[in-house]
Amino acid sequence: MTSLPGVGEKRAEALASLDIRTIGDLLFYFPFRYDDLQVKDLSTALDGEKLTVKGVVASVPVVGRYGRTSRLNFNLQVDRDVVRVSFFNQPWLKDKVEQGTEAAIYGKWDANRKALTGMKILATQTDGAPSLAGIYPVNKHVRQSTLKELIRAAYDRDGADLPTEVPPALRAHYRLEDNSAIVHGMHFPDSPQEAKAARRSAIFREFFLFECQIQALKSANDTAANGLAIPYGNAKVRALIQTLPFALTNAQKRVVNEICVDMRRPTHMNRLLQGDVGSGKTVVAAIVMYAAVTARYQAALMVPTEVLAEQHYAKLTKLFADFPVRVALLTGSTPAAERKATYADLASGAIDIVIGTHALIQPDVNFAALGLAIIDEQHRFGVNQRRILQEKGLKPDLLAMTATPIPRTLAITAYGEMDVSSIDELPAGRQPITTIWLRKNQVRQAHAAILAALAAGHQAFAITPLIAESEKIDLQNAEQLYEDMQHAVGDRGSVALLHGQMKPAEKDAIMHDFAAGRTQVLVSTTVVEVGVDVPNATVMAIFDADRFGLAQLHQLRGRVGRGNAAAQCILIADPKNDTGVTRMQTMVTTTDGFKLAEEDLALRGSGDIFGQKQSGLPEFRVGDPVGDYASLNVAQQEAARLFKQDPTLSAPEFAPLRAYLARQQQTRGVLD
Ligand code: ADP
Ligand code: MG
Repeated sequence: MTSLPGVGEKRAEALASLDIRTIGDLLFYFPFRYDDLQVKDLSTALDGEKLTVKGVVASVPVVGRYGRTSRLNFNLQVDRDVVRVSFFNQPWLKDKVEQGTEAAIYGKWDANRKALTGMKILATQTDGAPSLAGIYPVNKHVRQSTLKELIRAAYDRDGADLPTEVPPALRAHYRLEDNSAIVHGMHFPDSPQEAKAARRSAIFREFFLFECQIQALKSANDTAANGLAIPYGNAKVRALIQTLPFALTNAQKRVVNEICVDMRRPTHMNRLLQGDVGSGKTVVAAIVMYAAVTARYQAALMVPTEVLAEQHYAKLTKLFADFPVRVALLTGSTPAAERKATYADLASGAIDIVIGTHALIQPDVNFAALGLAIIDEQHRFGVNQRRILQEKGLKPDLLAMTATPIPRTLAITAYGEMDVSSIDELPAGRQPITTIWLRKNQVRQAHAAILAALAAGHQAFAITPLIAESEKIDLQNAEQLYEDMQHAVGDRGSVALLHGQMKPAEKDAIMHDFAAGRTQVLVSTTVVEVGVDVPNATVMAIFDADRFGLAQLHQLRGRVGRGNAAAQCILIADPKNDTGVTRMQTMVTTTDGFKLAEEDLALRGSGDIFGQKQSGLPEFRVGDPVGDYASLNVAQQEAARLFKQDPTLSAPEFAPLRAYLARQQQTRGVLD
């Protein structure tokens, strides 16, 4: 990375925070949308539209302060119209505009007030320049403009002749562009058509490379021939089940059987356990891990966050209290001395079951006899992270768990022919979650519901989505909600704020306080989505709910209603179109996760930029596995066909693909 002029150690580190570690990463770091910088004629502008206007600054620019916000105001004479321009919280822009000079401003148009909320001041000479400007996902370490310059520099140096992984025959057949054309078209399109064509090729490339990784993983599994036969003790497993404080549901019994039968077979298990939030996957994991232990194997459970690891650890320790099972916890914050001891005990076999985060797939972790590896919330992990865990020790059987009920066809494509077990039934006696939808001007009702919950000794979540392209604005939104909540709650409880820019330790501390009941209302961006169990929380208020996909709303909703008290999910949204209205109504009327997943598929078209993370499917950067399902499907078939035809990819035209896969194996995964 540092071979690029302008990139030193420090900048390389900043780029790494965006997962950009090589020139290749940089070139393939694509905009998620484009701003149309073509100067717009105001008579055709629509209310709410983002556009560029050009005119003469017609008043002295003034910065005013309003509490914590500042606002830069000036008038812009555009033909015969006077447009009122405001920039929020960017007082320094004042020096960039001067009364009597020309200015081109990109912003959001308010047709009624003839006002523009400015987002950017453009170089006034926009004529002749390309009309589409890519907007990149960035964070506080890397600026939009810096990133653009670096991408330009990288492209000018290396862009013309990039190796292309998708084999030539496939490209010809599906009319796909090579990598150089993709990179040009995505970053510097001369026309919307070029951008569109490049995106289509980029999506296929991304899916195809993903499916090839799956195929490589699969053929590695197959060639390793035999997996493990795990002859667990039937009676012992039954004894454990008997000590549970509840009876297993029929669905839980069925999947425990499916998994156990599969483990006993000498073939390698590669199984997906799907079950709605709250369907009780953890106890299934515990039972089958115990089964492995009765056959003298070790078992590992990998989860995406420390909070979740600790929660599972606490539950399992309790569950196994009267059994000869030694359970250990291994996370990033395990103290060094303890970690060393744990490493030693895992290697000697003294520990039977280990629960942990990414810490489990570090090179220092070795097992005496790992027989079963379980990955909870599996979509949070990459293919290679799964692979690394699986390569620990003896090629353990693998169970991947997910709370997202994915339509079966899509699951097969996305997870590469794993066997699927489904828990399609919730434990009896669950209190139903009532879902209501409020308009933003009814927000007081949401406050009232939260206060009622607090009065009854319960807790509440208030969730705000990630909606802006800048983390700064998202943080502002979250902070605003935090303030509103503090105001609404007053001295009737304490409110905490949790957001993605906090350090893991900080997040954990806040989650702990909430789980322990030390705070009553948790205002959060979507970090809480992952399996946290706080049974005392009974209200989930989701702001700007129309910004979420149904699957994600459903996951969030599943965070409440885990205890004995009735729970409520409150959606607060003013959807902008009919689809949004339908979504809200669907959430109110449907509690079945599978049904929602299918509705989600039906409702969502392509090009939904907020859609990528919603489905619980593996995360892609360009493609949307739901919206671009057809492309994913073709990519899967072609990857499978390719590996059948040439399993080692020995033909010369596959060299770039082979190199890509080798590189992924070496560098990804541990770093991810
Ligand atoms: P998820 O599938 O979302 O991971 P969990 O495993 O966290 O769900 O289970 C949710 C809650 O339901 C936990 O508190 C768990 O103890 C409880 N639970 C699991 N199975 C049953 C059951 N058969 N009957 C009653 N409660 C159960
Ligand atoms: Mg869970």
